[in-house]
Amino acid sequence: MLSLKSCAAGSETLLAIWREFEEGKLAHAYLFTGESGVGKRTFARTLAKALLCNGEGHKPCNACRSCQRFEAGTHGNVYFPAPQSQKTTISIVEMRNLIAELGRSALEGGRRVIVFNQAEKLSQPVQNSLLKTLEEAGEGVYFLLVTDNERAILPTIRSRCRTVRVPLWSDERVARELMNRGQSAANAKELASIAEGSMGKAVQMIHDDSWREERALVRDAFLNVKSVQDIPACSQLLKNKKEQAETLFSILEREMRRLIMKKKTDAAYTGDFFPEHWKKADVKSLMRIQDSILRCKRYKASNIGWTANAEGLMQSIAEEATKWQL
Ligand SMILES: [Zn+2]
Repeated sequence: MLSLKSCAAGSETLLAIWREFEEGKLAHAYLFTGESGVGKRTFARTLAKALLCNGEGHKPCNACRSCQRFEAGTHGNVYFPAPQSQKTTISIVEMRNLIAELGRSALEGGRRVIVFNQAEKLSQPVQNSLLKTLEEAGEGVYFLLVTDNERAILPTIRSRCRTVRVPLWSDERVARELMNRGQSAANAKELASIAEGSMGKAVQMIHDDSWREERALVRDAFLNVKSVQDIPACSQLLKNKKEQAETLFSILEREMRRLIMKKKTDAAYTGDFFPEHWKKADVKSLMRIQDSILRCKRYKASNIGWTANAEGLMQSIAEEATKWQL
């Protein structure tokens, strides 16, 4: 368990909040937004714990009675009215009870922290009842709202919160953190390159490595197409993979985008993902393939069959690849 400062390390945005905390200049309501897996929830939780901590030195100290009760889930001054598993949102009644509870405990003093994870799931009536509380919250009451979808939060709520947009992580930072968690350097680099700035996604991929198989399939079925003669064999590999269509096209699109970016400065670049013959591919040709990939992604919802769609893309790749190999 980390101190707030270590939790913010590597992110200027979060270090700024840590400084506000240290200087006693925190606002009373924060809205943490950003892509999934960038550490919003962990930071909000650690901030809540730090606000309640009675220990010395860097907070939370993770040793004092308050920190222990926080970890055990028995701290009376922190509330996590997050949506329960079956429910989409907390009810208006629960919200009113919480507000009444805050009013009562305010009399006893001490800080109170309310953390709304998945705040986008709060219904409009619940958000409206929260509004009044945000305005009238007494001394020592802190609201931490966390969401992946900032636009689902009412503008009136947003305007009463300090919005903190937690940015995506750099690949280097993801790789460093993965190595801290025991991954080998090679593994960490590979995972970081496909996690797209989401530490959460990288961690998920450690536990579920189906991505390896999917990437290998993309390489074998699409990127190994050198001419139209290869299409039947490659198409065979995609039999019964219709369910994965979206994932496979997304991998292709992302890798193609990355290849195009790199090729603009280094014409011979192929990275670790593209087979050798892609070295000769020129940017214009890759952009045409990228258009075909995007078209295929859109067609997935239409009546065009999975096989016909995938073979259409192989056809485009074969046409371009034939040109490079002349
Ligand atoms: Zn403590």
